[in-house]
Amino acid sequence: MRHRRLQLIQSLFDDYIEMYSSRDDKLTTRFSDNFSGYAGSSDALITNKEEWIRITRQDFAQVPERIHIEMLDLSLQDLAEDLVVATAFFHIHLPIPESILCRETARLVLIFHRENNDWKIAHSGISIPYGLANKGEIYPMTSLEEHNRELESIIVARTRELAEANSRLEILSNTDGLTNIGNRRLFDHMLRTEWSRGQRSNTPLALIMLDIDHFKLFNDYYGHLAGDDCLKKLANCLSQSGRRAGELVARYGGEEFIILLPNTDKQTSLDTAHYIHQLIQSLTIPHAKTDLGIVTVSLGIACLQPSEQHSALELVRQADAALYLAKSAGRNCIRSLPSLNPQGFIYDGPQE
Ligand code: GH3
Ligand code: MG
Ligand code: MG
Repeated sequence: MRHRRLQLIQSLFDDYIEMYSSRDDKLTTRFSDNFSGYAGSSDALITNKEEWIRITRQDFAQVPERIHIEMLDLSLQDLAEDLVVATAFFHIHLPIPESILCRETARLVLIFHRENNDWKIAHSGISIPYGLANKGEIYPMTSLEEHNRELESIIVARTRELAEANSRLEILSNTDGLTNIGNRRLFDHMLRTEWSRGQRSNTPLALIMLDIDHFKLFNDYYGHLAGDDCLKKLANCLSQSGRRAGELVARYGGEEFIILLPNTDKQTSLDTAHYIHQLIQSLTIPHAKTDLGIVTVSLGIACLQPSEQHSALELVRQADAALYLAKSAGRNCIRSLPSLNPQGFIYDGPQE
């Protein structure tokens, strides 16, 4: 008997919560004529049913959508045959993400009284952390919305900062620390990219490898810091020399630089190497240990039609071999493999 009574009260309690959540006007039909209760943020006991409804409607207007009540605990206390107290603890989830209320525990006490063979709600006492609410609010909607806006702007700012940090990191990891031009990592990446592009678009890819002549002697004579300075000057000159779209200048290692030339045929790559050779010579950086008394460079050129027959590394191998030819021929000159230019040499520097 007692068990069935509690079962019935439990289902009446569930109905009440459902009606409260879904803003059902029938919420008060189960109220006793002698109802008393606390509504919304009012801390005065209301003994007038209409007044209770008025305040509750006010709070419904503030949150027009459904409130989700997540029940944490419900206990039913059987005080007498005609009197049962239901005490519930729950979280309130308002239709606002990250709402403060969903983290606060609210308490509801409903006193069910049996009147004329029917169970009526004689008292409803709700305790919600209304302290968060601004004056005139039932739910702390204003502060919740402000809090939300704050969170959103923090997220936007953090996301932007993260994107900027990422792009700075990306630039940093592709940049040579001394000369501020592209590094080997960037070159390796661009070589693969341009090799694939050349393959797709059936356009040739050229590579110039450049190495400073007798740079060890330069360091020995002028000191390592002056050597660093020389590398910076050369890098700056090379990066400003770009004449073609998509051209990449990078520091390949030590005192070696590369110029990657997409969509560039043999003749244009020879002309470009010649132009660069002249440009560096015109810097006239003193070098007491060379024949000309200034810093000179040797250049190796390769030009290939990217295809599946070779890997992109073949281009590097050929440019490197051509550079070796230039060094062997006495430095301060441009060389390619005979397959590129049957004469083998292109430019030997000014004759004494
Ligand atoms: P070659 O004409 O045959 O190229 O002779 P080289 O002396 O230029 O070539 P080698 O490979 O013998 O020496 C390269 C020198 O470059 C040795 C090294 O000290 C110097 N070097 C490499 N990286 C740096 C750098 O970052 N700063 C300075 N100052 N020197 C560097
Ligand atoms: Mg070298
Ligand atoms: Mg060298």
